[in-house]
This record gives sequence, structure tokens and C-alpha cells, in this order.
Amino acid sequence: MIILKAKKQRRLLNNLFNMSIAQNLLKIKSTLPEQVTLVAVSKTKPVADLMEAYEAGQRIFGENKIQEMAEKWEQMPKDIKWHMIGHVQTNKVKFMAQFVSLIHGVDSLKLVQEINKQAQKNNRVIDCLLQIHIAEEETKFGLDEEELASLLSSSEFQQMKNIRIVGLMGMATFTDNKEQIKKEFLHLKSIFDAIRTETMNRVSTLSMGMSGDYQLAIECGSTMVRIGSSIFGGR
Ligand SMILES: *Cc1c(COP(=O)(O)O)cnc(C)c1O
Repeated sequence: MIILKAKKQRRLLNNLFNMSIAQNLLKIKSTLPEQVTLVAVSKTKPVADLMEAYEAGQRIFGENKIQEMAEKWEQMPKDIKWHMIGHVQTNKVKFMAQFVSLIHGVDSLKLVQEINKQAQKNNRVIDCLLQIHIAEEETKFGLDEEELASLLSSSEFQQMKNIRIVGLMGMATFTDNKEQIKKEFLHLKSIFDAIRTETMNRVSTLSMGMSGDYQLAIECGSTMVRIGSSIFGGR
């Protein structure tokens, strides 16, 4: 009797401490439309937390620091797809070129060149999203529409064989004003639609939406949401 009680107690405690990440994940996944991909943003979180999400079936993780992502990649199962969601410094591309699955924040020709070069060294093609500046804040990275057009039409870019642009990414202004966020998401969606038409549907991914605004982002046409704190808790 006493042993059973202790076991039961331990299980309850385990549930309290271990189940929440899996539960958060499954709850969010159950609300996502089929065509929307979930990137579990695990930056700053320990491998044990990521493994809970992994064991609950999650295979795509997003990190914003290359070194942290590389350390987790080394320690974790190899069927995980690692997404770099943060700003990328050109001189650090080489540390992820071997394994990164998708780079979200590509916003200059210089970075595109370096990714292409490092991908070539590793004998692979690296998928990337071009980051578009849609927020009001000056601090957010990203291309404006003119820069996007000139990058895509540059002959140098068109000759690159080891980088593939599969879509766009953007971050809305950090505000409670839903109308403002919606306006920015719809703006990004309209750029995405234009690029899709121009490339005959070769781009397919629109990465927009985080914990606070992903439902709105999906309503506005997002196909990929990047969710951290709603899965893993605050940072
Ligand atoms: C941290 C981060 C997220 C996730 O933010 P949450 O609010 O925790 O969901 C999404 N996208 C980018 C680019 C981030 O840096």
C-alpha cells in the first residue's frame, strides 16, 4: 500500500513537471489548420525541455543563436529539422551550414552569397526565407519591397545553385493593437502572393505569427508559425 501510494504520488508529480510542455504542444497543434507548419521555438530552453516536445512528436525546432542551435543539434536525435529564426551574422553561417534545415531571416545579398558558398562547401542546397520588414519599428530587420525585388532580379543571385528561396518571413510590430498587426500581416501576404505569381508558385512558405499573434497570422494567410513561450513557458 505504501509503495503504491508513493508511486502514484511520483506519477502525479511527474505529470505536473513533465507533462505541461507536451500538453501545450498538443493543444496548439490541435488548433492549427493542416497546411500550417509549427516551428517550436526553443531558444534559451534546455535540451530536456526540447526532448519533451520531441517525445510528443515535434520534429521542427527554431533557435535564434547559431552556437546554441549547433550544441543542441549535436546532442539531440538526428531526425530533427533545425530552423534558424534569428538574425544571422555572415561570419557564423559556416557553423550551421552542415545541418540547418531552413534559415528564416535572410535579408541581404551579402548573406545570400555566404549561405550559397557554405552550402556548396557542404554539398547541399540550403532552403531560406527572405525576411521582409513589415513592422513600424526601425529595429526589426528585413528587406523592403524594393530591396526584395532587386535581390530577386540580380543576375548574381539567379546564378546561385546552393541556395533556394522557398518563401518569406516577417514580424509584426510589438503592440496590442490587433488592427495594426493585421494590416502588417496582410501587407506581407500581398507581397507573398505577388512573389508566388512571379515565380509560378515555386515559393510556398509564409512564416508569420508567434505565441501572441499566430491565430491572427493564420487568418491572414500564414503557412508557418513560430511558437515559443506558449509551448515552453516564459523565457
Ligand atoms: C523568440 C521568437 C519567436 C517566438 O516567440 P514567442 O512569443 O515566445 O512565441 C518567434 N519568432 C522569432 C523570430 C523569435 O525570435
